[in-house]
Amino acid sequence: MPEPSGGAETLEYRTEVKQLLDILAHSLYTDREIFLRELISNASDALNRVQFEMLTTQDVVDPERELAIHLSVDAEAQTITIADSGIGMNREELAENLGTIAHSGARTFLQNVGAGENALEEIIGQFGVGFYSAFMAASEVTVTSRSYRPGDQAWTWRSQGDSRYTLEPADKADRGTTVTIKLKEDAAEFANAWRLEQIVKKHSDYVSFPIYLAGEDGEEKVINRRTALWRQSPGSVSDEEYAEFYRQLTYDTADPLAHMHMVTDAPVNLRAVLFIPAKRERGALHLRPEHGLRLYSRKILIQEANKDLLPDYYRFVDGVVDSEDLPLNVSRETVQSSPLLRQMRRALAGRVNRELKTLADEKPELYVQFWSEFGVFLKEGVAVDPGSREALVPLLRFRSTHSGDELTSLADYVSRMRPDQDVIYYVLGEDYASVARSPHLDYFRAHDIEVLYLADPVDGYMTAMLHEAEGKRLQNVDDAGLKLPETPPAEEESAAQVESEAFDALAERFKATLGDRVLGVQASKQLVTSPCRLVSPEDDFDRDLERLRRLMEEGYEAPKKLLELNPRHPMLVDLAQMVEASPDDPLIDAAIEQLFDNALLLEGLHANPVDMVERIQMLMAAAVAAKGGAHDAGSQEEEGAV
Ligand code: ADP
Ligand code: MG
Repeated sequence: MPEPSGGAETLEYRTEVKQLLDILAHSLYTDREIFLRELISNASDALNRVQFEMLTTQDVVDPERELAIHLSVDAEAQTITIADSGIGMNREELAENLGTIAHSGARTFLQNVGAGENALEEIIGQFGVGFYSAFMAASEVTVTSRSYRPGDQAWTWRSQGDSRYTLEPADKADRGTTVTIKLKEDAAEFANAWRLEQIVKKHSDYVSFPIYLAGEDGEEKVINRRTALWRQSPGSVSDEEYAEFYRQLTYDTADPLAHMHMVTDAPVNLRAVLFIPAKRERGALHLRPEHGLRLYSRKILIQEANKDLLPDYYRFVDGVVDSEDLPLNVSRETVQSSPLLRQMRRALAGRVNRELKTLADEKPELYVQFWSEFGVFLKEGVAVDPGSREALVPLLRFRSTHSGDELTSLADYVSRMRPDQDVIYYVLGEDYASVARSPHLDYFRAHDIEVLYLADPVDGYMTAMLHEAEGKRLQNVDDAGLKLPETPPAEEESAAQVESEAFDALAERFKATLGDRVLGVQASKQLVTSPCRLVSPEDDFDRDLERLRRLMEEGYEAPKKLLELNPRHPMLVDLAQMVEASPDDPLIDAAIEQLFDNALLLEGLHANPVDMVERIQMLMAAAVAAKGGAHDAGSQEEEGAV
């Protein structure tokens, strides 16, 4: 190691700095580009401070010099230089600020390491460890600084990241600090202007001072946007600017569906721009694999994807949040547990909620588009977050027996309820096609009572948790003991009916064939056009979760149900006759099996519909033969069964 020469004075770091440097030197970092963010953030702080000094102090070195940051690369020498015209440091300040740990993030970091906490790289990447993160990429760091105070000398601080640093007087006429990084051999990637530009765009794009980068030709250009859109007044930003900002932020090619711009000072200082994307899937190019909001404190990025600023069910929302109440050096742990964060979260969630409500009220067509992409998230919110129910329930939309292709809110449903109706009815199933055919709807159709169609897997999860809305109870129509409003049916009773004795024999036959796959077989009072249906026993509280569990749990078997038969259905009238006249006919059991399978299908509970194909062919063959086909029914059956 070369000994510092000339008039340089060698000093020892404090123990804590030695520890930190030792860790940095020996860790594998996935994210070491953040060293640039740290140095730019220091430069930006120094510029903010000198700006303030110039307001209050008359006597400042270089009062006319532009407040800016200059980056340059020397590929040959393998160095990067970050120069600012900020407040600068004198000898004592260099020793104090760069020889001890000022950065409280670094201190937290050290404590975590001491406590044996996980993944060093992750913590380093998350907060940065301030100035010393330069040593992730540097074999030597040189800081030459001239304070803003006219009486102070310029000094150079230098260190190779070992236990010592040197200080010597320097020649620097202008105000500010120049940090020169001699890159380690394995950090050569950073000796590249294009790469630096990418890093600045990613982490420091909204630093308010211009960041100049010198290209190969020595020509400088500003590479950051500078204006922090979210800190502008909402009235001064155009829709196109919001959209452009959104695209930069997310790499989404489409415009967002909606944006929100929040400016509040109480109870917490917040500047936020939030977006609702147009689509859930934004393609492989989508910038961030993780969801979460970008969290800034005074335009300096603290966290790229904060998941705690909004409830989980709003995780489709993208955007940035900036709070001046948040110290720059917060660690993830302190962010999470701070009461400040809870306040921010309440304010942000409330804002998204209001935006959605306005969208629903004022732009229903857009809201329908939103709903088709993100409705499931809101249903999830209703299911998992009781505290948010009141806010979310008015945002729910459903299709129903009466809504046609439109969607209805629960409030609209309630406004259409019949005078004698006091509950909200819904039918659960796997998709709209099957719920629309559900035998449970027979009675409701005949009596013109509206039923909501719930066909998302998450719907059952939601109804399992949500028992009341708009002051009305929610009721699944598959309930065996359902008490229905006493209204005369719209249709006449059909003439033919299975008499009670014959019905008992038929029910016995169903029981014998289906065995313990059903809890029981009984006559239905409600079925009109359907031959049969599966109903849940009244005490089966979990039944709404069956469809979800079937998707999520391998080998899940839905609890058994009761089979209700419609004694007025012509097919069952015929079947009862067959049971009486020719009980050995194989068609009887095939028909019973198929009726049971159909009922399972309509419930969205059939395990494997393909298994039915053979039997359906056999039944078809019998039907064709019965219509007077030329062939003998028996041989058809055998062929069909092969
Ligand atoms: P933090 O920025 O959190 O205080 P750092 O480790 O990043 O911690 O920096 C330590 C200190 O060094 C800063 O607080 C500041 O006083 C000083 N410093 C670092 N870089 C500069 C700079 N470019 N200009 C002036 N002072 C600086
Ligand atoms: Mg810093």
